[in-house]
Amino acid sequence: MALRIFSTLSGKEEEFKPASDVVKMYVCGMTPKFHPHVGHARLFVSIDVLRRYLIYRGHRVHFVQNFTDVDDKIIARSNKEGIPAHEVAQKYTDSYFEVMDALGVMRADEYPKATLVIPSIIAFIEKLVAEGYAYPLDGDVYFEVSKFPEYGKLSRRSEDEGVMAGARVEVEAGKRDPRDFALWKAAKPGEPAWESPWGPGRPGWHIECSTMINETLGEQIDIHAGGRDLIFPHHENEIAQSEAFCHCSPFARYWVHIGLLSIGGEKMSHSLNNFLTIQQLLEKFEPAAVRLYLISIPYRMPMAYSQEGVEAATKGLARLRSALELRRGAEERAPRPEEVEAVDRLVESAQRAFTDGMDADFNTALGLAALYELSREINRLRSQEGYPNDVLTPARAKLVELAGVLGIDLEAQRTEEGRAADAYVDLLVEIRTKLRAAKQWALSDEIRDRLKDLGVALEDSPQGTVWKYSERG
Ligand SMILES: [Zn+2]
Repeated sequence: MALRIFSTLSGKEEEFKPASDVVKMYVCGMTPKFHPHVGHARLFVSIDVLRRYLIYRGHRVHFVQNFTDVDDKIIARSNKEGIPAHEVAQKYTDSYFEVMDALGVMRADEYPKATLVIPSIIAFIEKLVAEGYAYPLDGDVYFEVSKFPEYGKLSRRSEDEGVMAGARVEVEAGKRDPRDFALWKAAKPGEPAWESPWGPGRPGWHIECSTMINETLGEQIDIHAGGRDLIFPHHENEIAQSEAFCHCSPFARYWVHIGLLSIGGEKMSHSLNNFLTIQQLLEKFEPAAVRLYLISIPYRMPMAYSQEGVEAATKGLARLRSALELRRGAEERAPRPEEVEAVDRLVESAQRAFTDGMDADFNTALGLAALYELSREINRLRSQEGYPNDVLTPARAKLVELAGVLGIDLEAQRTEEGRAADAYVDLLVEIRTKLRAAKQWALSDEIRDRLKDLGVALEDSPQGTVWKYSERG
């Protein structure tokens, strides 16, 4: 089956067909005005999963993500913290990398920054002005929406709606149409500014993305991603600017929008001051558990944050890891052919369930369900009397591989902590065997019961004692 992606532009799922052998992918990145919050984690982890799955499906992906490092809110924060705007941007860009690295978000191939491409932005605007798509007005420059008849094709807004719902309608005197939006903003006192043909000023937000995409990926790209809240006006405006600039269409073949994360019924956002930073969450929970939580529902759906959800994901992660544990002291014999075949079938069906789910517009809920099913089956087979460990090796390898596609490293903790614990359990079992030989039943039972509380199950048999990790609580 082929990979299908839901594109906001067509309003339906489409088979994914990149224009060339390198998938050109762009995502609107952070405005680094404060520490990223859990809503940002959902956005960038979701996009990271999309990217990883494309790579897993054999695509080469060129991935670009920008930083909007000059903006009204950065300037406001600069005044509040008493440090220059560029230092504010750097500080929170560093903060972004710290938490996203922890969450296993792969670094982009390129991270363009608005302030580093100002001459290109000016050249982009000059072309739009020269070709009649934009006009200067008292030091500002506006895009003239009526010159781009397809305006509204992404958000499907009628002219009236577009104006009414555009939230920030600039009532700038002299604008030819209320829908016209700023490409260049004349400098205000005390703000960062650059020289331009229209006087000192700074770029508007939308033109930054159009220019950075053109600079890094070219005129047309395969996937443009971002938060659902960017469809209008940001992405609508990007399309108008870029398609007017290149006289080509579509600017982006697939428009992918990530559902928003809410808290207490409202979108989690810096501006509403109802956010939990990723750092705060990582103080309480393991990064892999947070990641698992964030991809537990399909990326397009809205998600309501709950701590119980993260706790449940923590248990889910432990369940997946439990399948990697070997049964201690299990029989060492060559696997029987029927055992090998059964495991082959298990691996095949897990692979199919995972790929079918992920091919359906990257449905991570189905992808994870395939992983849980696989780990359940591994645990069931392992608990059978006399079952040798080795026969499950391909199933464990598949579990690790597929979890890795979702960016979850199941072995990380096992190698560092799990294997260290194994030696201590072995030691306790050995001491208990000696106690039993000396008929110290009370003490030997106590060791067994205490280990059980810790998630280690012992089984005594005439051949000796075997142990395995069991699920806790
Ligand atoms: Zn953008």
